[in-house]
Amino acid sequence: MTCAEEQSLREAKRMSDCIFCKIIAGEIPSERVHEDEVVVAFRDINPQAPTHIVIIPRKHVPSLGHLVAQDDAIIGHLVRIAAQIARDEGIAEGGYRLVANCGAAAGQSVDHVHFHLLGGRQMEWPPG
Ligand code: 5GP
Ligand code: ZN
Repeated sequence: MTCAEEQSLREAKRMSDCIFCKIIAGEIPSERVHEDEVVVAFRDINPQAPTHIVIIPRKHVPSLGHLVAQDDAIIGHLVRIAAQIARDEGIAEGGYRLVANCGAAAGQSVDHVHFHLLGGRQMEWPPG
């Protein structure tokens, strides 16, 4: 097996273990609020606010720290869609928060880059 083949096998194995890749594939059910060719958005299973939506790229990227220049358009699209979902969900006027946890100390528990869209209540600052 060539080095490139081994690398793509390792990548396939990582993706098959990833909860969010399974949600994208429909292998784990989710309540989707938006999907297109680049991103999928669904309600968080353990909501931390009246509206709590997780927005993920279809591309498996483990964390913010793994993004490369070719991902710029994906993340730009994701952020614009987040604002659109906030309007659709009726939380835009009251204010909302878009956060991405990177690494264990920040609270990242799923190794597929994702943004939390939170709204519908007063937010505190600084965050815990
Ligand atoms: P993190 O802690 O990595 O920043 O965020 C991961 C989020 O994914 C958590 O808020 C968690 O509740 C959510 N989550 C984990 N597994 C599932 C799942 O199977 N379905 C849904 N809808 N959300 C999930
Ligand atoms: Zn994944």
